[in-house]
Formats: sequence, C-alpha cells, structure tokens
Amino acid sequence: MLYELGMTQEAYDMREAAIGVDIGGTKIHFAVVDSEGCIWHESIVQTDAQRGGAEVLNRMLEGIDNMRQFAETEGGMTLKGIGIGSAGQIDFASGTVAFAGDTLPGWTGMPLKRLSEEKFNLRTVVDNDVNVIAVAEKHFGVARGLSSFVCLALGTGVGGAVMEDGRLIRGAFGGAGELGHVSVNFQGPRCYCGNYGCLELYASGTGIARLAEAQLSRMERTASWEPHSRGVIVAWMNGEPAASQVLETVIHALSAGISSFIHTFNPQAVILGGGVSEAGEPFFEALREQVKLRTYPSMWQTARLVPAGIGVHSGVIGAAAQIWFYK
Ligand SMILES: [Zn+2]
Repeated sequence: MLYELGMTQEAYDMREAAIGVDIGGTKIHFAVVDSEGCIWHESIVQTDAQRGGAEVLNRMLEGIDNMRQFAETEGGMTLKGIGIGSAGQIDFASGTVAFAGDTLPGWTGMPLKRLSEEKFNLRTVVDNDVNVIAVAEKHFGVARGLSSFVCLALGTGVGGAVMEDGRLIRGAFGGAGELGHVSVNFQGPRCYCGNYGCLELYASGTGIARLAEAQLSRMERTASWEPHSRGVIVAWMNGEPAASQVLETVIHALSAGISSFIHTFNPQAVILGGGVSEAGEPFFEALREQVKLRTYPSMWQTARLVPAGIGVHSGVIGAAAQIWFYK
C-alpha cells in the first residue's frame, strides 16, 4: 500500500490522480501523477517509431491502460483524466497530431484525444511535448511564480515553448514556439523545415555531432570522445581543444537565438533543459556572458537564464498537469 506518512485512510481514499504520457521518438513514458506533481507509478516503453503510427498508438493505449489499472486498483485513486505530451506539432483544439515528420513516421493526423476518450471514457488533453514541460516548470519547477518565460528543450532536436501572462502562446492551431527553427545564420546549411541555419542545426544532439565531426576533420584528428553532446561536454571540461571549438560554436548559436527570444518576448526567464545544458554552471556562465553582449540591457537585466528545475520526469508531470491546470 502507498500510505504517505500521517495520511488518514479517508484522505488516501479521496486521492485524485491523472495519467501523464510523454511520447518521444525513442521512448514513451507513462505515469500516474497527483495534483501536487508527485508520481505514484510509472513505466517506460520503447517507441519503435519505425514500425509506424498504428504500432506507436497501440503501445500508447496499452501503457495508459496499465496506468489506469494501477490507479483504480492498487493505488485506490480516482482518475480525473489523461494528459498527453507528444513530439511534433499538435492541433490543440482537436488533440490531433498536425505534423510529426521523420521522428514519428505515420504519426501525422493521429486523433489522439478522440481515440483516448473513446477507449477510456476519461477527459484527455493533448499538447506538444515541450509545451507540457513549460507547464511542469510553471507549477512545480523553476518557473513557479513567473507569468512570462521561454523554455528551450535541447535533445535530438531543439524544442521551444513560450508562456505569456500565464498562458502558452499557441498561434493559429497550436504550432507556435518552434524556437529550434529560428535561424541564427541566414547563410547556414539548409534545414528540413525549409529555413537555413536554424538553431537546431547547432544546438541539438544531432547538430553538435555534425559540428564535432566537421571540427575533427578540419584538425585532421580522430576523437578520443564520442561526438555527441555529452561526449563534447566531458571533453570540453577536460580542456580538449577540438571540443572547446565545438562548444564555442554551440554557445554562439544559442546566445544568438536566446537574445532574439528575449527581444521578442521580454521574458522573466529563459529555461534550458537537456543536452548541453547538463554541462552545468560553467556552461551557463559562458552562455550568459554572450547573451548579455547581444541583448538590450533593459531586457537582459530582467531575464534570468537558468537550467530546468525538473529532470527526466518533466514530460509526464507536465502532461498530467494539463488535467489540473487546463480547464
Ligand atoms: Zn529548421
């Protein structure tokens, strides 16, 4: 049994929960989450995205069903809804995937909200995976008490979310906040979105690997480190010159992007999670120095540049939080 210390049987019986689902290109993460953001049960399955949208959907529905069974039996909880955060662009009103691309082949057009509500008879809210991270940070993380902030999620790609006056900026259908596809080099390489020199080409795991390989071939060196973000960070901390060059490019690209976001949104904070942001304070110090040089002092003074407060669970916590905080 999952009694918390000092909890009465009555309080335990009245405990309400929501199911949170975080769908990425590699893994699907499920959790039973209460309104305070505490996780009571969780599981992770491989997405196996190359098997196609129907298979990913089956895995999603099966995972939700497992969480439902836990919550209603062993957990003794009342389920209030299902919150889903998915990679790709989401049509927020209908809860349908508007565009998912190569990360999730066959996922475009999937009516997630309708399918989940039909199967489980529980209110379902679907949003983009980075939008739900912003919700988690606002209610349980570093953005508590803030009404205007920007989130950047550095992963295989670069995702973004913008909160203004306590609400996510959604745009025409829900696609707003694609901050990874803001150009930081108009003469840069072509991106799959159509633009040139997108931030994602320099600050994502894939982008950093590309920069590292190019840098090593220029120096006619083979790497003693893996050319992905964690490998580059470790080598940078050890003073490896090729890694330092790569990280300098990443910092310049990120600072150009962040300065543009500060000028556009005048946020109280810019929150960075995943990828190179895990390099910690020396990385943030170098980044702040560059952003400051590129930004109107009035706007820099009011914008904090900080690491995300919630780690790998931010997706499921934020996905579930939609049930409590989106009415
Ligand atoms: Zn792009």
